[in-house]
Amino acid sequence: MFSLINRKIKRMVLRQQKKRPIVMISDTTLRDGAQMPGIRLEPEHKVQIAKALAAAGVHSIDCGFPAAGDSEFQGVRAIGKAVKGPVLSALARTHQGDIDRAAEALSGVSPLKRAITLFIGSSPLHREYKHSMTKSQVIDTAAQAIHRATKQFEIISFGAEDASRTEPDFLSELYEAAIQAGAISIGFTDTVGILTPDRAADAVRRIQDTVKSMDDAMLGVHFHNDLGMATANSLACVKAGANIVQGTVNGIGERAGNVALEEVVLALTLYPDEYRKRTLVDSTAMYGLSQLVAELTRVYPMDNKPVVGRNLFRTEAGIHQDGILKNPDTYMPFKPELIGAGPVTLVLGRHSGRNAVRHHLEMSGMEPTEEHVELVLDYIKTGRHSAGEQAEIDGFLERLAPFMSDNDLPKPASQNGVPIREPA
Ligand code: MN
Repeated sequence: MFSLINRKIKRMVLRQQKKRPIVMISDTTLRDGAQMPGIRLEPEHKVQIAKALAAAGVHSIDCGFPAAGDSEFQGVRAIGKAVKGPVLSALARTHQGDIDRAAEALSGVSPLKRAITLFIGSSPLHREYKHSMTKSQVIDTAAQAIHRATKQFEIISFGAEDASRTEPDFLSELYEAAIQAGAISIGFTDTVGILTPDRAADAVRRIQDTVKSMDDAMLGVHFHNDLGMATANSLACVKAGANIVQGTVNGIGERAGNVALEEVVLALTLYPDEYRKRTLVDSTAMYGLSQLVAELTRVYPMDNKPVVGRNLFRTEAGIHQDGILKNPDTYMPFKPELIGAGPVTLVLGRHSGRNAVRHHLEMSGMEPTEEHVELVLDYIKTGRHSAGEQAEIDGFLERLAPFMSDNDLPKPASQNGVPIREPA
């Protein structure tokens, strides 16, 4: 049926798509992300996350590796049944068995919405130690697998694993063979997260300059964050011409993780002129996605995680609090609403100032005098007060409890409904 769509038409559609000033976002939270030690996602959790990704507007979802085991297979199958919108892709080695499992897992999905991602290690280390293959054996193996997969899939993407440590000339040869065999998207992967932005952009430019059939395929990039440069690398590649960025929510994934999609999406949202491309992903969905993935994976982003860490919108420092009360933009890089978070919280702790104390007391309906503010501030900072002030302090603290810093909260003598956290 869809084999009737001949290559010519496919090529035309692809070339049109490549001209659009859009960076496509491919999510691999459920595959590379879920490979992180300790994460266990049941099929229904995967469906929940995939639905949220679809609602956010990602272009494609790497749903899992069906040949890796029954739970992986079931996860991909469940997503295929329940999730509409993005292209749903299954990972496969170049083995026929893997291709069959991928096709089976996505059998219910319409041919134009299901994809296979075939991969093979391309670097000298992978060729020698993993595959025991020569360069030409790697090329032949990849091309044959891609060719066989065209019988079951219209959308085939090919990833050269450890591409960033592969000889550039050989890599281009491999990509050319993959496109000739039927891949419509090729992936440049920095599997061990070793690149810098300049090196990454150079590699992407070189691929575009040397792969003859590059006009007939999308170019995707896949970065890991071992050197803390995954976001910068991905964006450098977008500037250099990459069409697809693949990453994970909260940057979960092997070792230091994958590039965090929310970081890439926010940068593209803030600076479309700089990248001359925009994203169709809704930045206001990022905070909700981050929370959902954190809850289901039980991997919580650090408080200071870029873009979605909870400290992005909390401050304890008196000078920052004073500025934010006068105009939130004074100490905020972007409004919390832009990622669907907020409002800003002024945390009360050792570093706080009187304006934040007064603000919180007033917001709770009190009309504090200067003396009240001083009394409370002094107590928050030192944990001390004179014996006669206990009842009064407790009254205030009850109102202020939700804003107290977890670390600095001095322990009131009486409990009176104020939550007291014992040090862990
Ligand atoms: Mn990876």
